[in-house]
Amino acid sequence: MKLHTSLDHLGSVIVGHRIGGQTVPGEERLELADPARVARLTGSPDGGQDWIDEAVAVARAALNGQWRATKPVERGRLLTAISRAIAANEDRIAAIETLCMGKPLKQARGDVRTAARFFEYYAGVADKIEGETIPLGQGMLAWTELEPVGVNAQIVPWNAPLAMLARGLAPALAAGCTVVAKPAETTPLSALILSDICTAAGLPDGVLNIVLGGRDTGAALSGNADVDHVTFTGSVAAGKKVMASASQHLASVTLELGGKSPLVVLRDADLDRAADGVVRGIFWNAGQICAASARLIVEAPVAEPLLDKVVERAKRLTLGHGLDDPDLGPLASKAQFHRVGDALVQAERDGDTVLLGGKPAEVTDLPGYFYPPTILRTRPDSQASRREIFGPVLAVSEVPDAAAATELANDCDYGLVGGIYTRDMDRALAFARALNVSQVFVNGYLAGGVETPVGGRKDSGFGREKGLRGLQAYLSTKCTTVTFSE
Ligand code: NAD
Repeated sequence: MKLHTSLDHLGSVIVGHRIGGQTVPGEERLELADPARVARLTGSPDGGQDWIDEAVAVARAALNGQWRATKPVERGRLLTAISRAIAANEDRIAAIETLCMGKPLKQARGDVRTAARFFEYYAGVADKIEGETIPLGQGMLAWTELEPVGVNAQIVPWNAPLAMLARGLAPALAAGCTVVAKPAETTPLSALILSDICTAAGLPDGVLNIVLGGRDTGAALSGNADVDHVTFTGSVAAGKKVMASASQHLASVTLELGGKSPLVVLRDADLDRAADGVVRGIFWNAGQICAASARLIVEAPVAEPLLDKVVERAKRLTLGHGLDDPDLGPLASKAQFHRVGDALVQAERDGDTVLLGGKPAEVTDLPGYFYPPTILRTRPDSQASRREIFGPVLAVSEVPDAAAATELANDCDYGLVGGIYTRDMDRALAFARALNVSQVFVNGYLAGGVETPVGGRKDSGFGREKGLRGLQAYLSTKCTTVTFSE
């Protein structure tokens, strides 16, 4: 029943680029599939260079046209209207997101609410983007204005398609930018619905444009010389290419490239609370989140009791079709399924011990890409404890004390987020200061919301998203100095 209704929702989306307020159909070149049933859902065009160039030209014209003339307060009102319309479409968008990406429906609903919240949050900012005056003394006056950075490219991943697009789009629009977005090739439909919502809410034509396609289309977008800022979320390898091509025309970039985030549990922690945080942190969205707590670092005296609690909770997690609202859906694609499988083969080679899971899961009547919650006790240099897997795989390491925990937490190529569970606030705050990441969670992994900034250090990239800091990438400071007789 749910599947039937969801397929009806799917049929309500016209699959085609959205450029200048028009729907542009194209030849079907890409397939969208339900990763739980391994069944084709629909086809999608691959825009390539020509449609990217067209969309960027349209975005440039819109930037210099009606959008520039739209007052900040009106931009804010538009964002409010978009937020409300996203919330009103929650059932439809969440069902489509689940069908294309696999995640449990309640998590897809959470993503839709987060997307609505991004627009609500940045709606309140649009008319408060204020400059400053600079004292230069008699006969001189200087002030700054924060102008939109220009045409913004959003290259979007597949793990939370609508929420990730909203995370960049809402501040870009609040700042007065125009946007060309390229959703991930496997999950583009929620972006199309969002574009239609924006048009219906009154966003002027050309302010938001969506070009469908794969990595070559993404490369054409980051390489377009008329793009001023590129916002990219995805793999390190693709992020480096995006940065290299943006550098050819000196566009600025925000790169959010994932992580291998440490979660430390000290001997004095509330172990039930910590176990809840560990399980949520790594098995939410089947581990396919950039901030997943993929490395559990635990003080040796509490390792066994903590692992008992984590394993017991993980065993209770259910798998199934996302529309049936299990705890874990399938992995998002065949490629992702193989990525996790390869990582587990490597873990065996490295001598890691499987405490739970470790093999693909059989789910009745569903041939899809399922992996169960997997827990590995890892050896110090094993790849499973260092490389991002982006699946439901927890790598556990034991350490003798808090100092060793901090050292191991920092011994990583990535630097996105990290967490700690302890009742000792001195230790918690010392850890927070010492950890080389952008966001730290104390006694509540992944607490916070659209207000709290996050971004990369080291291989996790750079730039900040969310919160007021997340607006900065979309603004360019201009200083005007006047000399006058006084
Ligand atoms: P990917 O980086 O290949 O794709 C992400 C987005 O970038 C997609 O829209 C894709 O079409 C586009 N893209 C790919 N290559 C590009 C290029 N050269 N130029 C411009 N755009 C390009 O990610 P993936 O293959 O789908 O997943 C691989 C890994 O990426 C995962 O294992 C995970 O480590 C990481 N990932 C991270 C996040 C995150 O939230 N940080 C999200 C998704 C994937």
